[in-house]
Amino acid sequence: MQNVKLNNGIEMPILGYGVYMVDPSITERCVLDALSVGYRSLDTAQYYENEAMVGAAVRASGIPRDEIFITSKLCQTRPSYAQAKENVKGSLRRMKLDYLDLMLIHWPMGNDSDIWLAFEDLVKEGYLRSIGVSNFYPETYEALVKNASVIPAVNQIETHVFYQQRPMVELMARYGTAVESWGPLAEGLNGIFSHPALMEVGNAHGKTAAQVALRFLIQQGIIVIPKSVHKERMIQNMDVFDFELSEDEMAAVRRLDTGHNLEGWPADALRYNP
Ligand code: NAD
Repeated sequence: MQNVKLNNGIEMPILGYGVYMVDPSITERCVLDALSVGYRSLDTAQYYENEAMVGAAVRASGIPRDEIFITSKLCQTRPSYAQAKENVKGSLRRMKLDYLDLMLIHWPMGNDSDIWLAFEDLVKEGYLRSIGVSNFYPETYEALVKNASVIPAVNQIETHVFYQQRPMVELMARYGTAVESWGPLAEGLNGIFSHPALMEVGNAHGKTAAQVALRFLIQQGIIVIPKSVHKERMIQNMDVFDFELSEDEMAAVRRLDTGHNLEGWPADALRYNP
């Protein structure tokens, strides 16, 4: 597994397993499958209502805690500093964990500087190893860092072959914030798994369209967390480290960018701050 070194020196696997919309009744089994085939980074969130099952799978796996990188995300509108701290401790209680490797603000919550101060203090107190944001676009991201002592380690944003977000990727590079892709397989939409351009590139390497889509992101240093509840697809999605896209192949995939997210909104539409 290839790692990304975050701006605090901590190493995060460049490929992990996401559990959005994985039903709580099967989450423990799915996470155990993912761990059994080699995933060592897990992405959950309070909003997904399956944090407890992710924690249960980590314990049931028998894999030492420090060998698994675990992310969750705060979801609470306008919490005070004290409420934000309590909120994070709620995730730890549900997951029965002593610490999280990465905690994100799931989207701009309205008083992000208070949440951020709570996150910074939770790092000092040993509850969080790294802190970051998700769905923060230039306005909300820059408003946050203006008052921050710690620059976000990660910004988890929608990005995939159809929505490449090059300006955001460049902005994050300037700040030293790693980009993590949510929906790296475009949530299975736009015919991604049988897309002719992706299949053509894949055929040249004996790989699927899904593997080309993931490789395209990884090759730019973007962290990916594909989701599947099927073990064989989990294996397929991890099998992306034994080939490389040429510059021409990268250029061919770059041409698939529509400039719009899956809802058909431009990035600017997500720059809201309730
Ligand atoms: P994804 O891009 O990972 O696509 C998942 C879909 O692709 C599923 O329908 C799955 O069955 C299918 N699939 C996966 N691998 C396949 C393969 N090899 N062949 C064929 N089909 C395959 O979508 P996602 O789950 O929305 O995103 C990944 C993760 O990102 C989530 O699980 C979650 O952890 C995170 N996420 C975060 C946010 C956020 O706001 N921060 C939003 C959405 C998702």
